[in-house]
Amino acid sequence: MTSIKRTKSDRNLGLSTLQDISALILQSHDLDETIRNIVDLVALRAHSDVCSLYLLENDQETLTLRATKGLDESTIGRVSMKIGEGLTGKVAADKQILAIEEPHKHPDYQYFAETGEEQFHTFVGIPLFDHNHAIGVLVVQTREHHIFSKEELATLSTIAFQVASIVVNARLLDAIDHYGRKDTATPTTEDDTEDSESQQSNTLRGKAAYPGVVTGPANIIDQQFGFSDIFDECNIDLPAELKRLDEALRKTRIQTLYLEKRVAEKLTQEDAAIFHTHLMILEDRGFIDRLHILIEEQHSAPYALKKVISGYLEAFGQMEDPYLRERAADMEDIGRRLLANLVGKNTEGLQLHHSGILVAKRLLPSDMAILDHRMIMGMVIESNEANSHSVIMAKALGIPAVIGVKSAISKIKPDDNLILDANSGCIYQNPDQSIIDEYSRLGQEGQLEKQRLLELQNIPPVTRNGQRIHLRANIGLISDVNVAKTHGAEGVGLYRTEFPYMARSSFPDRQDQYLLYKKVVKDFAGTPVTIRTLDIGGDKALPYFTQPKEDNPFMGWRSVRVSLDNLDIFQTQIEAILMAAKHGPIRLLFPMISNMEEIRTCKIIVEKAKDNLRKEKILFAEDIPLGAMIEVPAAVRLASHLAKEVDFFALGTNDLIQYLLAADRSNPLVEKYYDPLHPAVLLSIGCVVAAAHNNNIELCACGEMATDPACLLALIGLGIHEFSLSAPYIPRLKNFINRIDTVAAEELLQSLLLQADSHSIREALDQAIRNLPVTDFSVIKYQPQPLQIKSRGNATRLQS
Ligand code: PEP
Ligand code: MG
Repeated sequence: MTSIKRTKSDRNLGLSTLQDISALILQSHDLDETIRNIVDLVALRAHSDVCSLYLLENDQETLTLRATKGLDESTIGRVSMKIGEGLTGKVAADKQILAIEEPHKHPDYQYFAETGEEQFHTFVGIPLFDHNHAIGVLVVQTREHHIFSKEELATLSTIAFQVASIVVNARLLDAIDHYGRKDTATPTTEDDTEDSESQQSNTLRGKAAYPGVVTGPANIIDQQFGFSDIFDECNIDLPAELKRLDEALRKTRIQTLYLEKRVAEKLTQEDAAIFHTHLMILEDRGFIDRLHILIEEQHSAPYALKKVISGYLEAFGQMEDPYLRERAADMEDIGRRLLANLVGKNTEGLQLHHSGILVAKRLLPSDMAILDHRMIMGMVIESNEANSHSVIMAKALGIPAVIGVKSAISKIKPDDNLILDANSGCIYQNPDQSIIDEYSRLGQEGQLEKQRLLELQNIPPVTRNGQRIHLRANIGLISDVNVAKTHGAEGVGLYRTEFPYMARSSFPDRQDQYLLYKKVVKDFAGTPVTIRTLDIGGDKALPYFTQPKEDNPFMGWRSVRVSLDNLDIFQTQIEAILMAAKHGPIRLLFPMISNMEEIRTCKIIVEKAKDNLRKEKILFAEDIPLGAMIEVPAAVRLASHLAKEVDFFALGTNDLIQYLLAADRSNPLVEKYYDPLHPAVLLSIGCVVAAAHNNNIELCACGEMATDPACLLALIGLGIHEFSLSAPYIPRLKNFINRIDTVAAEELLQSLLLQADSHSIREALDQAIRNLPVTDFSVIKYQPQPLQIKSRGNATRLQS
């Protein structure tokens, strides 16, 4: 059997092909052109003789050939099959990759004479998904015998994801187009969402998005030049309006490229990825056609833009998928920039002339790119979009922010004196003297505390009785690394790898992931970095990874379940982590484990990943500690068994609380039920601690619970000495830890575990905190000990 000769460039199939596909999308103007270019490119890069794309028709039953490189092109649109019919139909029906040799010998093979495909000896079919629903099949065929490697298949799957998202987006634009034709010319005015609930006259409330307290003048970013100023004009000069539009589109594309570059320099490539999507929209033929049609109907270019953008905004606003709903912000952003270019205004208005607390209805990604971050002391945002790109960027920059503040724009006036307490989500507007005094006292204390904390910078957190506590950071975006380091985090206890991928437009390949993980582990120079495999689903979606629409997403297909159903993606990620572990101490963590089979399968995949890397002669760390997240009640009950399978536990308090108490972690209606000090939570955590101790494995508590001092005291009293949390909390908690005595905390918890009511538990903890002594650093008895990261194989020793 002859295999196609592998060249060095084969290895680059993934990265370069994916980059080229992104470039192709920008060059192509409609779906047909894009997919035609994609099949050409994939055939070329995969050294295949054929690459074809079949898409599902509206009847949801028929797959039709929509583009091909290698088959007779005149059969495009004419060759079709039902789902389940032939090999291509089988791929769609099974929703699984099929990679076989001698396809004509397969029982499901069906011959389509018109395509001339009898000459091919290898067949690979990759399903395209939208929300777990097959929407097409990408087929690659070779004339010679060729065994496709795992890596190649994984890359083809990633390409298929990307193609699927292009198809879905194109159809989405189509759907919006139909919607738009219903003449939904509601202008994009700033309809004031006046809050009917009476609030204290000078206190506004919202949701803390990033912690911190700042005082400063309000810097209002009103909708600068908006569509409300645009009215239709009579007697337009048609050629002049079309030219005006073309010119504005050209200018806006150039500005968008500049924004992308600027954000990539200031933040990261991932943060900049959103502008790539903006470019796609600015090049989208459907978008441009709609503008042309309206201008040809004798509307001015700005008015045409107003109508088109408002149609999109309305359509996006009605979408069920929160990710898509939030994309309305991108549409608004594009519209506003385009409008500024149409009417000859620039974005000067966005310049901040003094530092202050930024108040905006909604901040768009380009605002965050243009604004001088040094002038932003804090952010007050009306919209409640915790996952929006601007909020992600604010978090990455460590700017205290409160979101979901109703009517902020109408209530706050320029230069109002504001106290933004982004710990509690309160904004005090022109506060009276008592509040100013209180916050200035807190501010002075904060300054003093800062000074004290400076003294503590190189001293690890240690309790009064000398117990060393480890405070690590939860990180997501690469920009969090700096925030974590400046706050004195001792490595990373939880790297949420889904975050960098959320801000991207396509799935990163192994090399991309490896470079990212390597950067993080090198940045933390010797301190451990716990990398958690993808934890998507629930409230976290990847734009290019189609997930099913579920009634109960948190109880559904999420986290490790998704990984175990997509072994290519899973193994690729593990390979990248193992490779990065060559550069520093990495621990590999599996989320949402709920049974033994899952953790055992994860371990098998790790071994397979190692075998594959060995085969490819790629350097990797042979023995890295493996961990399981304990975040569902089943894992608590199984903890003593799970502890025998892994090197460490990560206690996911965010999820554990919601699953134990049946209270959605992000639903304000059940907020009062989401109680970290509920006795059931403490008893469960106690069981996990016992299982970890009895089996001599490490346990790190992740999640928000530990950021509340009363809860931290409870967790320490339960015997936990390692925590991972949002880094800005670390200095404060370090100070708090210095005041605790673990023996006293353990005794207190022994008695609290007998209580059935969380109110009395909280009261007792609060009382204990009030009785804690003020820190006296001279009594800290800590003697540095070697910090050991255990692994069931060879132990990796680290100096703390
Ligand atoms: C948790 O569930 O506690 C956790 C740390 O993970 P996430 O918040 O990412 O679900
Ligand atoms: Mg979790």
